[in-house]
Amino acid sequence: MKPYKNKINRIRTFALSLVFIGIVIMYVGIYFKNQPLVMVIFMLLGVLAVVGSTGVYAWIGLLSMKTVPVECPNCGKQTKMLGRVDMCMHCNEPLTMDPSLEGKEFNEEYNKKNS
Ligand SMILES: [Zn+2]
Repeated sequence: MKPYKNKINRIRTFALSLVFIGIVIMYVGIYFKNQPLVMVIFMLLGVLAVVGSTGVYAWIGLLSMKTVPVECPNCGKQTKMLGRVDMCMHCNEPLTMDPSLEGKEFNEEYNKKNS
């Protein structure tokens, strides 16, 4: 298994899981019907998680403007790249924008340098 994933996909998964976490927290709150204060705290936390995910989605929207659409040389599909190195959304093929990094071992550290 390859340890890296396409960044946009990864953030999207995070935003989606945040929605589910929010729903689960609110669901747990229902069990505290007899303690309105505890229920309200759970509800607020749940709403906060859902609102947070909306923020993450907005962030994805901003990031998407900075992504570069490229055609993956491995599977031939269109994918979006973020940063100097990223993975193909469809097949996790490592891709690079920097010709000097071509052929080198994939390393996400390349994104942190010079940024
Ligand atoms: Zn691909």
